[in-house]
Amino acid sequence: VVVIRHRMKITNRCTSAMGILRDFKDKSDTPISKLRQVADAMTVEMHAGLASEGASKLKMIISYVNNLPTGDEHGIFYALDLGGTNFRVLRVQLGGEEGNVGEPEFEEVSIPSNLMTGTSQDLFDYIAKALAKFISTEGENFRLSDGRQRELGFTFSFPVKQMSIASGTLIKWTKGFSIDGTVGKDVVTELTDALERQGVDMRVAALVNDTIGTLAGGRYENNNVVAAVILGTGTNAAYVERANAIPKWQGLLPKSGEMVINMEWGNFKSAHLPTTEYDIALDCDSLNPGEQIYEKLISGMYLGEIARRILLKMAREAALFGDVVPSKLETPFTLRTPEMSAMHQDSSSDLKVVGTKLKDTLGITSTSFRTRVIVVEVCDAIAKRGARLAAAGILGILKKMGRDTVVGKESGEIQKTVIAMDGGLYEHYTAFSKCLEDTLEELLGKEVSNCVDIVHANDGSGIGAALLAASHSQYLEGGDQ
Ligand code: BGC
Ligand code: MG
Repeated sequence: VVVIRHRMKITNRCTSAMGILRDFKDKSDTPISKLRQVADAMTVEMHAGLASEGASKLKMIISYVNNLPTGDEHGIFYALDLGGTNFRVLRVQLGGEEGNVGEPEFEEVSIPSNLMTGTSQDLFDYIAKALAKFISTEGENFRLSDGRQRELGFTFSFPVKQMSIASGTLIKWTKGFSIDGTVGKDVVTELTDALERQGVDMRVAALVNDTIGTLAGGRYENNNVVAAVILGTGTNAAYVERANAIPKWQGLLPKSGEMVINMEWGNFKSAHLPTTEYDIALDCDSLNPGEQIYEKLISGMYLGEIARRILLKMAREAALFGDVVPSKLETPFTLRTPEMSAMHQDSSSDLKVVGTKLKDTLGITSTSFRTRVIVVEVCDAIAKRGARLAAAGILGILKKMGRDTVVGKESGEIQKTVIAMDGGLYEHYTAFSKCLEDTLEELLGKEVSNCVDIVHANDGSGIGAALLAASHSQYLEGGDQ
């Protein structure tokens, strides 16, 4: 035993931070050839998920949205957006003077972390109370026209098996949420019951995933929007599919011939994904081991945590931060993605921001320039892998849609493909979004890439949910739904 210990010590001492970095870079590498394999695997899984229930890790959920906003929607509608660390309540005036969406009025409330792992009733009561408070500020004289009941679009950003446009059961929680009592329940019933308990008279007219809301909001602004991608705390995508290309769809063919699909791509998994020892350990220690593997390589909840794990190994085995391993570095999720992003994008010549962030978030008081360079490189490698894998996923969708080539060349009317994007990661981590966009361009080639636009649908999911509530209002006559 003594001998073995002795040998291990020697090996450890030989490990350098650079060696650990090099090893991570090797194993997480995403050359274009690998990204093409990932894209192809994504397309294959999309087909499988559409073919029959449970045939793929990709749930390919039928959203019951078969008509996207046209611009004719009008009236006052509400939206509730629940999905990350905050939730938002909105009131939107649709079809005002210029037929536009009026400036939405909204309230943002953070969700106390104990509610994310507490009971279903506590969570929904908390939300209903915030909604009650929001409405109470409307004042005595506020009335909807003709004494109408208030109607709400509920954006619920978790995997839900939809039964109709306004009902669906929670399949599982993701991100930081874990509340046993909600799984298998209809979340519209949960919300409606809570609203009743709070004395709020409101009807849930549409239950949508944030990807679906973003797609609807994006389409309202731009007719060429056919897909939406969320890159935030979690990640996911939705796109417009031909209804007759969905074998598992049992219902009537909608008049539009289309159906929006919530892919739940966060749960994608493939042998082609470049996972490392850090990813395996992160998954193991997570609230949902074995689930959301693609999400754990890409999204905002996890990038900082991957960085923490690599830096911890460097601290332990190569004394990156001196003889003592900083205790905060040993605590999961102390290094958040916004801090990682700030360090990664530090443009000061002496990497001052890296130094400050290491101090403020991890209590590491002094670092050498060389150490700070290594930290930046760690962030860079993690962000690049995530962004490039997300680009590969988008290529997979474009392939499935037949939009990975120039469409309409013969007729002379070249079709634009627009993807609506949202989420804090995409919005705030510029190095990430730029890498994603560059990689997609590289994958598509210049000519096709010119036909594909990515637009930032800022808070599109809330407005989109209000628009879908409007198009599924109980006061509409002769709807096509
Ligand atoms: C959820 C999706 C959601 C995505 C982005 C994922 O964890 O499963 O439903 O769209 O996060 O918010
Ligand atoms: Mg959101």
